[in-house]
Amino acid sequence: SLIPFLGFVLAFWFYSARDNFKPEMLKGKRVIVTGASTGIGEQMAYHLARMGSHILITARTEAKLQKVVERCLELGAASARYVSGTMEDTAFAEHVVKEAETSLGGLDMLILNHVGTSYFGYFNGDVGHVRKLLEINFLSYVAMTVSALPMLKQSEGSIVVVSSMAGKVGFPFTVPYSATKFALDGFFSSLRQEFTIQSINVSITLCILGFIDTESAVRAAADLLLVAPAPRAECALEILRGAALRRRELYYRYGATRLPLLLRDWAAELLDYLVRSRYRLDRLRKS
Ligand code: NDP
Repeated sequence: SLIPFLGFVLAFWFYSARDNFKPEMLKGKRVIVTGASTGIGEQMAYHLARMGSHILITARTEAKLQKVVERCLELGAASARYVSGTMEDTAFAEHVVKEAETSLGGLDMLILNHVGTSYFGYFNGDVGHVRKLLEINFLSYVAMTVSALPMLKQSEGSIVVVSSMAGKVGFPFTVPYSATKFALDGFFSSLRQEFTIQSINVSITLCILGFIDTESAVRAAADLLLVAPAPRAECALEILRGAALRRRELYYRYGATRLPLLLRDWAAELLDYLVRSRYRLDRLRKS
C-alpha cells in the first residue's frame, strides 16, 4: 500500500540529506560564531577550524577567546580571530559584523549562539532581568542579522540561530530564558517567510537543542533533571551539518526534541505533563 512506500521515501530522503554533508562544504567559508569562549560555541569553532574555515569568534572573556583562537589555528583554521565585548550593547553586536567585513571581506555564515546568564528556579518577578535577557539573547541576534544581511545576500549565505526545546514548549524554571527563545522563533520564522517571498537566498536554520553537557547547563540543571545531557562536541557538529545543508530547523537529539514536539499541537497537556515529569521537584524546593 501507499503508507509503507511513503515511509520508505521519507526515510530515504532523511538519510540521504544527512549523508550529503561533506566537511569541505565549510572549507574557506567566512563564519562568525558568537558565544564561542565556552560550551557549544567553542566546539563549533573547533569543528570549523578542522574544516578549514575563516573564523571570527566573540564573547566577553578575552582570555578564553585568545585560547580558543590559538587552538583553532592549531587545528587548521584558514584564519581565526576574536572580538571581545558584551551583547547587552547593540552597538557591539554591529561592531562584530563590521569586523568580519573589514578583516574577512565578507561573510558566509552567521552563527548566533550566545546566551546571557539567567537563574534556574521559579519566576521571581524581576522585569528588569527579563528586559536585559531579551537584549542579550534576542535583540543582539536581530541587530547582527540586520548588519550582516547585505554580506549574506551577496554570498547567498546562512544564518544559524541556536535555540532550545524551551523555545518551542513551556518549560518551568526558565521563564525569562524561554521567553527570549520563543521570541527568536517568531522573528526568524517570519523573516524566513519574507526571504522566500522575495527570493532572498539566505538560509535560516533554527536549532532546537535538548539538554547538552556544557559546564553552565550541567551546573544549573543536572541535579534537577532526570535526563542525561548529550555531548557538546557532537551537538556542535550536528548544528554545522544542518547549517551547511541549509535546513529550516535542526533537532538535537532528535528523540528528545522532535519526537516529543509531535505531541504539541494534538496533546499539549500530555506534553506539558511529560516535561514536568523530567524534573526532580523535591530538589528544586530544597535548593
Ligand atoms: P555557555 O554558557 O557554555 O556559553 C555561553 C556563551 O555566551 C559563552 O561564550 C559566554 O561567554 C557568552 N556570553 C554570555 N553572556 C554574554 C554577553 N552578555 N555578551 C556576549 N557573550 C556572552 O552556553 P551553552 O554552550 O550551554 O549554550 C549555547 C547555546 O545553546 C545557547 O544559545 C543556549 O541557549 C543553547 N542551548 C543550550 C543547552 C544546554 O543544555 N547547554 C540546551 C538548549 C539550548 P562570556 O561569559 O565570556 O561572555
